[in-house]
Amino acid sequence: MAAKKEASCARVRRGEGSLGTVLILGLGKSGTAVAEYCMGLLGSRVAGVYIAAGKKTPESEAFAERVACREVRVAFGDEGVSQLAAEVEGGVFDVCVPSPGIAPHNPLYVHGKELSAQVWGEVEFAWRESAPDARWIAITGTNGKTTTTSLLAHILSTAGQNAVAVGNIGDTCMEAVAKDPSRVFVAEVSSYQLYSTDEFSPDAAVLLNVTPDHLSWHGSFEAYREAKCRVFSHLRDCGRAVAVLDATDDEARAKVREFKSIPEDQRGFAYIPVGAKAGYSADMRNVCGSVNAAFVDADGTMTVAYAGKEHRLCKASELQIKGRHNVGNALAAASVAVALGSPDEAVAEGLRSFEPLAHRIEPCGSVQGVRCYNDSKATNVDASLAAIAAFPETRPILLFGGDDKGTDLSPLIEASHRHARAAVCFGAAGERFYQAFADAQASAPEDFAVLRAGNMEDALDVAFGIARSGEVIVLSPACASFDEFSCFEERGEVFKRLVASRARRLGA
Ligand code: ADP
Repeated sequence: MAAKKEASCARVRRGEGSLGTVLILGLGKSGTAVAEYCMGLLGSRVAGVYIAAGKKTPESEAFAERVACREVRVAFGDEGVSQLAAEVEGGVFDVCVPSPGIAPHNPLYVHGKELSAQVWGEVEFAWRESAPDARWIAITGTNGKTTTTSLLAHILSTAGQNAVAVGNIGDTCMEAVAKDPSRVFVAEVSSYQLYSTDEFSPDAAVLLNVTPDHLSWHGSFEAYREAKCRVFSHLRDCGRAVAVLDATDDEARAKVREFKSIPEDQRGFAYIPVGAKAGYSADMRNVCGSVNAAFVDADGTMTVAYAGKEHRLCKASELQIKGRHNVGNALAAASVAVALGSPDEAVAEGLRSFEPLAHRIEPCGSVQGVRCYNDSKATNVDASLAAIAAFPETRPILLFGGDDKGTDLSPLIEASHRHARAAVCFGAAGERFYQAFADAQASAPEDFAVLRAGNMEDALDVAFGIARSGEVIVLSPACASFDEFSCFEERGEVFKRLVASRARRLGA
């Protein structure tokens, strides 16, 4: 059995003592997990569980029916919090745990905050309940969280650590802590979850990038960026934490500048910039005199320079995940693994053996020599930009469209002209995308094709209609999926089935 690790961040981690009355807002995945956990503590550390479940759904009604008793109260609707508060002594809850789907301007959040002594999101709550020897790594960014989280958990497991990826893939933070409070938790944390953190101080925090997204939840880009940067707010409390920032991204690089301007003894944690403005080959030690840096060196080796030592890991070309953006994700994950003391050989082995995740530039077979990739998770323009540039060996045919987010398409069009051979525009967003491409056709390469299709299946067949053996088709919609599907996963699964059926009919 592995020896117990030294206590991490014990100063603020509780995990014991009374939690009092707990108000839970929303009964989604994380709300349900917190409710189940607190119900297990009734009669000991929890005096009562109060759930303001919001709108009724068949699932939340069934849950309410199953759990309701004197100590577990459930209320529905916007006035749920006030109704529940009337049942609590003094009318105030000890802790409020809002679900990430509930925005700060939602009446439930407003009332919950007003009527509770503390507001802790599920991540903060789970972190506080984890054991003193647990370690936490928080990974945030507009794009790349799931990939980097899974990759880092894989590297740490390869290095023999008891690591688990939590947050989006697999268990929620709360479920994972309930199962085993002493692990290395590699947590994907969204801006929503970070908004409701208080003293959360992970051992390592990663910021991949910040581009406009979720603006209606946060109210403004500034508020969104601020929520993301809360991941660093309490790093110094940990005593020996590290921040990892992708310095090719403007917002993350601004944060690097800020960290550099604070003397190390005041900052209280180390930081590792990944790449620099010029790209992942740039070494921030040379660019701006930073102490640490992660980059791809002149012979293509992924390298982490940390605490005065250079860790040369493996070649970027050995990664199975495609694209320049994935080199950035891999450097970020490797930086954390190195800073946490994983041996170089294990980090390199983990980097090499990590396979692409479903729906993220996922290879899904070929039809008559045309290779197909499912990037259904690309629900915004920035994610699609990564896919467009991920096939330098060819000029891919891209399928764009779905439920339109209304964002500026000029970066998408410019990148498509530079790297791709054709764009097939489909779904509810199809007309706007098609028109935008058509209007910009004067600046496109001569052989660049813009095509229109009805739904996603039509788009795939239109693409097969022009594709030649050896070429690549990529579904990277730059849109949400809700016009045709229930979620991006369903869209991706349908796409893979369509490719498989064409392959059966026409041959691979
Ligand atoms: P998230 O969990 O943040 O949504 P994922 O790893 O699931 O991130 O990837 C979402 C989409 O973004 C995929 O289409 C993927 O190819 C793309 N992507 C992954 N990493 C990055 C990155 N560092 N920068 C831009 N796009 C990325």
